[in-house]
Amino acid sequence: MVFLQSLTKADLSEQLFPISLQLLERKLRRDTERTPELQASLETKARSQAKYRAKQIFHWVYQRYVTDWDQMSDLSKELREWAKVNLPIFRLSERIARQASDGTYKFLWELSDKKTIESVIIPAALQEKESEEEVRDALMENNKRFSGREIAEKKDFLDLNSDHWARLTACISSQVGCAMGCKFCLTGIQGLDRHLGIHEIVTQVHELRMRAPITNIVFMGMGEPLHNLDHVSKACQILLDEDGLNFSKRKVTVSTSGIVPAIDELGRRVDVSLAISLNGSNDEQRSLVMPVNKRWPIAELLDACRRYPLGSHRRITFEYVMLAGINDSLEDAGRLVKLIRGIPSKVNLIPFNEHSGAEFKRPSDDTIRKFQKFLMERKVVATVRISRGRDILAACGQLRSIFGTARGTEKHKDWKELPVVQELI
Ligand code: SAH
Ligand code: SF4
Repeated sequence: MVFLQSLTKADLSEQLFPISLQLLERKLRRDTERTPELQASLETKARSQAKYRAKQIFHWVYQRYVTDWDQMSDLSKELREWAKVNLPIFRLSERIARQASDGTYKFLWELSDKKTIESVIIPAALQEKESEEEVRDALMENNKRFSGREIAEKKDFLDLNSDHWARLTACISSQVGCAMGCKFCLTGIQGLDRHLGIHEIVTQVHELRMRAPITNIVFMGMGEPLHNLDHVSKACQILLDEDGLNFSKRKVTVSTSGIVPAIDELGRRVDVSLAISLNGSNDEQRSLVMPVNKRWPIAELLDACRRYPLGSHRRITFEYVMLAGINDSLEDAGRLVKLIRGIPSKVNLIPFNEHSGAEFKRPSDDTIRKFQKFLMERKVVATVRISRGRDILAACGQLRSIFGTARGTEKHKDWKELPVVQELI
C-alpha cells in the first residue's frame, strides 16, 4: 500500500496523472473524435493538473494539518473518492507521551505492525540561545512560520506552545533499532529490527507539529539514518518542500555514525545539514566503541566531510560522546583539534548518558569543562550538550522500543513508568 506521506510532490504528481487524464476524458462528449493531437493536448493538461493538485494536497496535509480527504474542499468529489482508496493518509498512534521536568517530551509511537519507535521534542529556552540577536531571529522566524496557527496564551513553562521557547527541536527515528552496534548506545544494544518507511519518518514530524510549533529537526533518534538512505533522503525532500513541511535546510540535520559512501550520496540527493558522531580521537579508540570505524576509519570519514557540499554559513557538527577514562583526556582534545582542522565545523560534547545496559561512566563536570576550554582556546567552537530528558530516558542514546520484538536482554528493559508531568492535549 502506498501512503500519501511516502510520496514527494513530484511522486504524487506522477500518481495523480492517470486519474487526472481519466477525469478529463470522462468529460469529453461521446462523439468527439480521438485524434492524436487531442490525446496529446489532454495529456499535457492532465500533467499540469496533476502537478497543481499535488501542491494543493501537500498544503492541506502538511500546512493545514487536514488528514481527512473529505475536508479538502477544493478537490473534486471524484478525485477525493479515488484518493481515499488509493492514497490513504498515514497516522502514527501515540502509545505513551511523557514530559520530563526540563520540558523535554518523549513519544512512543506504535506502527501498523505493532512495532514501536520514539521521537522526542527538545525545547530550548530563550535564555539558552547564544546571543540576543539569535533569540530575536528565532522568535521572528517562529512567529512568521506559525502566524496562521493558534499559539496558546499560557506562559506555562512546560507548555510546548508557550512563547517561552526559542526553539523546539524534534529528534526523530529512522529505524526500529539500529544495526551499527555502538557499545555506548541503548538503541545499538537493541539491534536492528527494520527500516522505517518514508511515511513513518515524515509522519513523526507531522504528528509532532500538530502538537507543537517545531522549529528544527535532527535525525538523532533511533537508528542510523544513512543505513536507510533511500527513505531518509526522500523524507528530507518532503520536510524541505516549501509546499510540504517547509523547513529550511539549515534546520534539518542528519546525524551519522559514519557510513562514508552514504554521506556522499546524501550530499548528492538533498541539501541538509550534517552531524558526525565522532566519539573518538584515534582509530584504535573509535573502533573499540564504534564497529563502523573498522570499515571506514577516521581519515576516510573526515575526507567525506571535506567533500560534503555545505552551503555558505553552514558547519558540520561533530558529536563527541564523552566516556570517562576512554576519550576524555586533554591528549584526546589535542588530537581532536588536529583532526578537524580546516573543516568548517563545531564540536558538540555529549556527556555520556548512563543507562542500565552500559559499562561506561560519565566524566566529571570538571573534566568536561577542561576539555571544552582546551578546544575553545584553540579556536574550535565547542558546546556541551545539556542532557535533556534524562529522567524519562529521552536523552541521547537512551531511546529504543519497549514493546518491539527487537533483541535486548531483561537487563535493558528499564523504561520507567514515571509520573506524568503533563499529558498532551
Ligand atoms: N545513528 C546516528 C543518529 C542517532 S544517535 C548517529 O550515531 O549519529 C544520536 C547521538 O547520540 C550520536 O551522536 C551518538 O553518538 C549519541 N549517543 C548514543 N548513545 C549515547 C549515550 N549513551 N550517551 C550520550 N550520547 C549518546
Ligand atoms: Fe546506531 Fe547511532 Fe546508536 Fe550507533 S550511536 S548504535 S549508529 S543509533
